[in-house]
Amino acid sequence: MFIFRFYFICFAGFIATLAFATGKESPTQSSEKREPPVATEDSITFSSVHVDEPYIALTFDDGPSATLTPKLLDLLAAHHIKATFFVIGENVAEHPEIVARAAREGHEIGNHSWSHPNLAKMSDDNVRSQLRRTDDAIRGATGNRPTLLRPPYGSITAREKRWIHDEFGYRIILWDVDPYDWKRPGPAVVRNRILKETHRGSIVLSHDIHPGTIEAMPSTLDALEAKGFKFVTVSELLRMATPPPSRAPHSAESISASATPSPAPSQQPSPSG
Ligand SMILES: [Zn+2]
Repeated sequence: MFIFRFYFICFAGFIATLAFATGKESPTQSSEKREPPVATEDSITFSSVHVDEPYIALTFDDGPSATLTPKLLDLLAAHHIKATFFVIGENVAEHPEIVARAAREGHEIGNHSWSHPNLAKMSDDNVRSQLRRTDDAIRGATGNRPTLLRPPYGSITAREKRWIHDEFGYRIILWDVDPYDWKRPGPAVVRNRILKETHRGSIVLSHDIHPGTIEAMPSTLDALEAKGFKFVTVSELLRMATPPPSRAPHSAESISASATPSPAPSQQPSPSG
């Protein structure tokens, strides 16, 4: 009996370690040993979301571009697709009317810093200034403050995530689909990479400042629609989050215990963003 319990405890410990290592909740729901979930990095940072329906979020970074963003907005409107734009403050200051149009047409606007620096290598004061100026520019253009931050290059420290979340209320949005469109591989490659990698709950990264990306979009949207995907903003996708099946509880009380889903980041971002 003692031996049995010993093995059981080892096994439980192993599962807990495994769950910790993969950043996911334990599938066994062994309630007595688990720490209660706290507001950790997992509840702030998202690179994809577990959803039950085939919803995805398209995100476009580094704009607005005077010529390309309006083209993209026309295309999205024709498809009745809502996307999320992570804008650079400097560009918002230059073309607030494009950001205003995007917001008016139902797209979400997120903060992507003022001048696209590597936030992980900056002082808190400089990061604060980058975010504050952009937050103000977005509010000036749209009337609303953003609630999402995408750090340039996906680069941000755990400590920064915490204080930025506390101070600005931002959730940190990374991605799980990256076509590397900033390397300008050509529209067909951009499209094929997006089609290959996108799953339900995906957050798709691309940039509305590269002509090839905009050229890729008509056939990309057609193909994603043909696969049955539906498009929502990042905040809408986060609201749809459901617990992953591995946590699927055997009883109703476990369901309510995991009422606050913590979608699991699926992979490390590359130096895009
Ligand atoms: Zn960027």
